[in-house]
Amino acid sequence: MITLNDNKPVWIRDNEHGFVIGKIQDITSDNITVQLNDNRKPLVVPYDSAFQAEEYDKDVDDNCALMYLNEATLLNNVRRRYKKDIIYNYVANILIAINPYKELRGVYSVDTMKKYNGKSLGVMPPHVFAIGDKSYRDMRTTRQSQSIVISGESGAGKTESAKYVLQYLTESYGSHNGLIEDRINKSNPLLEAFGNAKTTRNNNSSRFGKFIEVHFNEKYRVVGGYISHYLLEKSRICVQSQDERNYHIFYRLCAGAPESIRSALRLGPPDNFHYLKRGCTQYFCNTQTENKLSKNRLSQDFISKGPLHDPQLDDTNDFIECDQSMDHMGLSTQDKINIYGTVAALLHLGNINFEDDPESTKGGCKVTSSTEQSLTITSEMLGLNIRDLRNALITRVIMTRTTSKNNDNIIPVPLKVHEAQNARDALAKAIYIRLFDQIVNFINKSIPFSSSNSYIGILDIAGFEYFPINSFEQFCINYCNEKLQQFFNERILKEEQVLYEREGLGLKKIQFIDNQDCIDLIESKTIGCFDLLDEESKLPTPRAEHFTNEVHKRNKGHPRLEVPRKSKLRSSREIRDDEGFLIQHFAGGVVYSTAQFIEKNNDALHASLLILIQECKNSFIKSLFPKLPELEQSAGKLNFISVGSKFRSQLTDLLNKLRSTGISFIRCIKPNLKMVPNLFEGGQILSQLQCSGMVSVLALMQQGFPSRTQFAELYSMYKSYLPAELARLEPRLFCKALFKALNLRDADFKFGITKVFFRPGKFAEFDQLMKSD
Ligand code: ATP
Ligand code: MG
Repeated sequence: MITLNDNKPVWIRDNEHGFVIGKIQDITSDNITVQLNDNRKPLVVPYDSAFQAEEYDKDVDDNCALMYLNEATLLNNVRRRYKKDIIYNYVANILIAINPYKELRGVYSVDTMKKYNGKSLGVMPPHVFAIGDKSYRDMRTTRQSQSIVISGESGAGKTESAKYVLQYLTESYGSHNGLIEDRINKSNPLLEAFGNAKTTRNNNSSRFGKFIEVHFNEKYRVVGGYISHYLLEKSRICVQSQDERNYHIFYRLCAGAPESIRSALRLGPPDNFHYLKRGCTQYFCNTQTENKLSKNRLSQDFISKGPLHDPQLDDTNDFIECDQSMDHMGLSTQDKINIYGTVAALLHLGNINFEDDPESTKGGCKVTSSTEQSLTITSEMLGLNIRDLRNALITRVIMTRTTSKNNDNIIPVPLKVHEAQNARDALAKAIYIRLFDQIVNFINKSIPFSSSNSYIGILDIAGFEYFPINSFEQFCINYCNEKLQQFFNERILKEEQVLYEREGLGLKKIQFIDNQDCIDLIESKTIGCFDLLDEESKLPTPRAEHFTNEVHKRNKGHPRLEVPRKSKLRSSREIRDDEGFLIQHFAGGVVYSTAQFIEKNNDALHASLLILIQECKNSFIKSLFPKLPELEQSAGKLNFISVGSKFRSQLTDLLNKLRSTGISFIRCIKPNLKMVPNLFEGGQILSQLQCSGMVSVLALMQQGFPSRTQFAELYSMYKSYLPAELARLEPRLFCKALFKALNLRDADFKFGITKVFFRPGKFAEFDQLMKSD
């Protein structure tokens, strides 16, 4: 609460910096006038945009130790530390990690790791290692598996943090031979080669979510691992946004594969491939890479240069690393040939193009003569007959059942140019998605465990996101974040509650805003967005507008659903699909453009393409497309495999797992959009702290007793300050006597069974009092 007459400093909301500091000059019932420290004209601001500032000029490891717990003091503490290159801090047991965008010396060394072994949280400075060790110790003491949920926006440092936790666990608690541990760590470069790409937000952006379980035996030593993955971004395989790239592996293979492989796979520079240049007009390789290349590894033909030069990507060396990690994971030479062959086949497939066929009476198309060669190469590589592949790409078959004889009639329907291009892209996506699954299978096979006592799971999944245009991918990821947020509330609040009960504090239940209504809007049976989308997809002619309007009609008046502003202004009754709907998520409102929801929700191939690929002569690719039972593979019409429902059931499994484990949270924060070191952009950091729930947790702590210390700890900290007769008491009694002697207000602390709990800021006051006496 702000008090006027004490003339204390206050933080005032500011778009750019998050908050700026000043002093109160005047206060009315609605507004306060604040003189900022930079001598500008005094500001008149609403009462609720000012927050009491700290009076002490120091930062704290745990934000709960601040005198005033609010978003401004939180941001200020984070800023102070960041300026000193201290990137970690806590809010109680939750770790906040700011991406330093530079190497911090010694922070992740083996020596540093050792210092965290076996130490309780809070003994050592905040660190990802401390969270790793807490999970490990909790696993041992509670005999329960543990999870670490890492979240944050793109580029915030989730994947790097996950790698450090993995390294910590495998290094500190591995077995003696070390092979499995090594493989667990080396699985990262392999996953990243196939699942990461350069985006405008992160040069090495993970385009999939993952949950890595590290399994331990009864002696609590690492015995193996298991990786589950979620929602690999499909659209990137065929199209990339301006200044973004396709998955790393494509460029690495072109740049780094030995000449023999490159010529066998008919690879050229990335500029030659349609799937690699949608986004960049040219492919650019950095000069640093060029200098390292020996002539026989890479002829100059394979490199092109230009203004998009990216010093952080080194495709040639990265190929070598990826190739070695495959060896390390125990993949055979044939496995590697199969994988590279599939990647190359996709590049050639993408180069096949179509044009109107003047000879077709039904408006069909044909393969352009200039891309006939790509068709030939693709069919060779996929093990298909060239005529069959051609037909499957330019026609679709419809089967009709004649009622009299129960016979199927096969009717070929010629496709238009854009339909054929879509069929080609659908085939490429289907193959790549399955290839990625296979890569994960290879990894899982290489880190097997025969018996597991418990595990520590690390979740690295994209945080809440909203862009100028949001499509199905954002819809799924934000849905996932709603579920994780609910889980976060459940756990953090529940744990706080349980602790208060266990210590017998007799406090009221803590209230929080539940987001179940938002989750229902998305996932409830029949009228939820996912079910309506699936229903639409099963109609003879699914339409985005119809789906959009159904969502609004069936959920009329839902407090989380709105018609986007532009559509409200339009007189037409139908809501356009480029605007779709607005959902009020826990982290803010997002307008979803529903134009491609139907297509993106469907993972199926045209029946003719599916049957063709299932029968191909390339045994590796064939194995990626196992035949389903007759019923599911209904021939003739477009199969429908709902991406949304698969994701929902994966998410249910994941949350069931998380609910059955102990939990820790790491909230990663991106300090600036330029991706550079030493730049703290307060405004957008504050919004990340809000989205990640940290501000709410702090507000919650403000209502409770956030600082807590064991009696024994307090005793050893302060006994030297007190007369000997007091120091002779046992710790709990000692503390009681001490608090009485200091005349502390009863409302400021509570005695539990093992700990004393302080109201916000009261521990710091008490500490000052002791040390000044
Ligand atoms: P995305 O959601 O796009 O996958 P992310 O949150 O996983 O993003 P990372 O790939 O982990 O982000 O981090 C982005 C980049 O930031 C890294 O490539 C690295 O350059 C830098 N970075 C992240 N964490 C650290 C760290 N602890 N120390 C040094 N650099 C870091
Ligand atoms: Mg990542």
